[in-house]
Amino acid sequence: MMKKHLLFLGPPGAGKGTQASIISKSNGYLHLSTGELLRNEVEKKTASGIQIKEIINSGKLVDDELVLKIVKQNLALSKQGWILDGYPRNISQADSLTKVLYELNQRIEKVFYLNLDEEILVNRLLNRGRTDDNENTIRTRLDIYNETTKPLIAYYKKLNILEYIDGDRDLKTISDDIKQ
Ligand code: AMP
Repeated sequence: MMKKHLLFLGPPGAGKGTQASIISKSNGYLHLSTGELLRNEVEKKTASGIQIKEIINSGKLVDDELVLKIVKQNLALSKQGWILDGYPRNISQADSLTKVLYELNQRIEKVFYLNLDEEILVNRLLNRGRTDDNENTIRTRLDIYNETTKPLIAYYKKLNILEYIDGDRDLKTISDDIKQ
């Protein structure tokens, strides 16, 4: 089977992590969630972990260089390919990713853009209960998403690799759609 390199893009709470996990398990891809990798750094309680924790709990984005370093360390580890979930979050990260993938001789075949109405997103996040899922932080994350992450939709549309996925359906319908 051909190796696959996929991006999951969309607002916080759209179900990227859940879907990335389902698809990567069934197809043997490496699931790389930058949020998850950063939370692992926090768990280590190193100096940089303490800084990361503060940023995550404020809802802002962690420094581009630091996230890139973590992503880079993991991209080469996959055997059957990977799903990047939560990266890139801005144009600068997308440009860095393009460069890194060129060096690794890998390319993104598809970008799945999962979307949901903002009202549903907020309710979902409030019910999820992560430490960064309080009303203030959610607002900040949605604002940052709208300002800095959303432009990536046009970025990947231009490259003809964007697939729109309606996130307002049950889990299995969505994952079947993506698998197709
Ligand atoms: P997530 O699990 O994707 O919702 O990410 C949780 C938090 O981790 C975000 O609110 C950011 O603070 C941080 N984070 C995750 N991915 C990135 C990224 N690509 N760039 C910067 N910060 C990130």
